[in-house]
Amino acid sequence: MKLKFLGAAGEVTGSCLLVEADGVRFLVDCGMFQGGRDAGPKNRRAYAREIGPIDFVLLTHAHIDHCGLLPRFAWPRHGAGLPAIYCTKPTADLVPVMLADSAFVQSRGAKRSARRRERPVETPLYGVDDVKRLATRLNAVPFGVEFRPHPKVAVRLHSAGHIVGAAFAEVRLTDGGRRRTLVASGDLGEDSALLVRDRSKPPAADVLVVESTYGDRNHRSLEDTEAELVEVLHDVLQQRRGNVIVPAFALGRTQEFVVLLYRLAKAGRIHVPLVFVDSPLAQQAADVTFAHLDALDEEAAEFHRAARERKLPFTLRYTESVDDSMFLNSIRSGALIIAASGMCDAGRVRHHLRHNLPRRECAVLFTGFQAARSLGRRIVDGARNVPMFGDSVPVNASVHTLGGLSAHAGQDSLMEWLRAVPRKPRAVFVNHGEPLAAHTLSARVARELKWSPTIAEAETDYEV
Ligand SMILES: [Zn+2]
Repeated sequence: MKLKFLGAAGEVTGSCLLVEADGVRFLVDCGMFQGGRDAGPKNRRAYAREIGPIDFVLLTHAHIDHCGLLPRFAWPRHGAGLPAIYCTKPTADLVPVMLADSAFVQSRGAKRSARRRERPVETPLYGVDDVKRLATRLNAVPFGVEFRPHPKVAVRLHSAGHIVGAAFAEVRLTDGGRRRTLVASGDLGEDSALLVRDRSKPPAADVLVVESTYGDRNHRSLEDTEAELVEVLHDVLQQRRGNVIVPAFALGRTQEFVVLLYRLAKAGRIHVPLVFVDSPLAQQAADVTFAHLDALDEEAAEFHRAARERKLPFTLRYTESVDDSMFLNSIRSGALIIAASGMCDAGRVRHHLRHNLPRRECAVLFTGFQAARSLGRRIVDGARNVPMFGDSVPVNASVHTLGGLSAHAGQDSLMEWLRAVPRKPRAVFVNHGEPLAAHTLSARVARELKWSPTIAEAETDYEV
């Protein structure tokens, strides 16, 4: 079996694994690179690249860094043989929404680039028509049920506990006449996740690929995180009388954070007058998420019922138009504003940061991973000023990181999942992590499980 990591090696974005066995070639994920200046050129290179005929694609979940380059298969150069893409039902519902948003963001970026007469002018990788064509190739399969994307290959998708619909893949194939099982983790969540149902235990694998986003650290417990959130909200909203800005991924994190607010407000632990979700994409993501109650945790389902019956313990508003979003800038106190992007590199959150970062009475609350070189990382790392909209914006607001809310498993939790693998795999690869995280996890796996993991390097041919 041959493996090649076309992305998410030495970094946390661009997930795309090319697998080849007995003449069958397939991808696990086909994601975009995100964060930092070099993401654009890397995406253009990856998108234009010829990777040869692909029999099918397995998609673990709908985050853009896992599905964002799928429209490459919508291009005519791939002819009639467009590969089928297999994923769970919630993922199949989310992918067109996420890709259409990505196409929109790219076309806006291209217009801006043309206005500024940049050379070369940025061009979108794909448009909404490509997304529509691509969407016809999505095949939804249920969790845990075996299907055959190719006569020689049997696959099962298991719950990864990451976002709604997220799965890890168990792939059974023949390789040189021998039966082999490949397990690719995709993104794994914590078992205590509030939004989605718990992740499944891993099956036996000959070849195992595991993510390592938080391979070098653990999250704080949910109880500690809740206590911290209660304190920050009380301090900012009731004492300092400012606003709280929460940069969050539109898909997953935003819905999970709102469920957490519901849980705390219901218990009388917080008093939040106004909660705004300022992201049309987050609203669409919420619509799809709560249409799949069977894939959700009980508490999330309860929140959804309360919201539908207008019995939430706070006022929750989704802002659609740009005017509504701009109106939020005039609110001086009492508002909690959740907006994308999660790493502050794009999206409406940048406007809210511009208005609230210079104010001492306000706070910025980070809830997710901040990649190296992203604006979010600079704020978390204590920058006194940050560049935004051609200005230098002073950071006077307090900055907080809620450690226990990640959609990704921490180190102990990754180890717990790995420990449940029934027997020692023949080969283990650690991917989807910055170098320190991947090395730290790999060292612990070697020490405690006596496996010999390989840290995935991009563009390297592995024969296993
Ligand atoms: Zn993800």
